[in-house]
Amino acid sequence: MGPDCLSEIFDIDEAKTRLHTKQNLLISEALLDRKIISGIGNKYKSEILFICKISPFKQISHLESKEENILLERIPKLLIYGYKNFGRTRHLLKNEKSSWNTRHWVFRRTGKECWICKTVIKSEKTITSRATFWCPNCQQ
Ligand SMILES: [Zn+2]
Repeated sequence: MGPDCLSEIFDIDEAKTRLHTKQNLLISEALLDRKIISGIGNKYKSEILFICKISPFKQISHLESKEENILLERIPKLLIYGYKNFGRTRHLLKNEKSSWNTRHWVFRRTGKECWICKTVIKSEKTITSRATFWCPNCQQ
């Protein structure tokens, strides 16, 4: 099992070492691989990659070291935020009502506009083993 991202001391270096053993794997698949990191559900996979502006189809070998650090640092933060907020991963804006549509950045928002750039959110489940949601403009 890989390091647990919800444990008090999430071992980023260990997660990094494990990531590097799977150079050809897509980052979206790596995030669900418990031998690399444990504790990330399918929803959080898409949300974390959106927040870090990383394409879900990027191979580990193509991740820049800076991107990798930002990603690993944000994983526990987003998970904790989500667990404290009943699964919500996106902050509500002023005057915005809480609804299924405003809960997430990209998860289950296929065909809706990206909150940041208004590009239409896409989803797919053939390249990745489980449904992946992303903004083709923000995540390249
Ligand atoms: Zn966008």
